[in-house]
Amino acid sequence: MLRGTVVNNSRRCGKPNCRCAAGEALHVRTVLSYSKASRTRFLTLPQEMVEPVRQATQRYREARARLEAQGEAGLTELVNSLSPHSRARSRTRSQPQRRSTSES
Ligand SMILES: [Zn+2]
Repeated sequence: MLRGTVVNNSRRCGKPNCRCAAGEALHVRTVLSYSKASRTRFLTLPQEMVEPVRQATQRYREARARLEAQGEAGLTELVNSLSPHSRARSRTRSQPQRRSTSES
C-alpha cells in the first residue's frame, strides 16, 4: 500500500510558443500528492504507474479507515464502560428506550 492521493494536475510549461501559453490547452500530468514533514509534495507518475499507484493508495485508505473504525470502537467501549450511567444494569438495559407515546 501507499500513502498519498493520485490527482491530475494541469499546468503551463512556460515556453512562449507552446500550445499551453494561451492558457487553454494546459499540460495534464498525473501526480501522486503526498505530505512529508508537513509539506505537500508531488511526484509525477509515468502513465503505466498511474493505475497501480492509484490502487495502492486506495488500499492504504481502506486499511486506515478500518484502523480508525477499530480505534473509535475501542474508545467508545472504554467511554461506555467508565460512564456512570451505563455501569448499572448494563446487561438488561443498555440504552434507555425513548417511546413517542408520552406527550409533552
Ligand atoms: Zn507547454
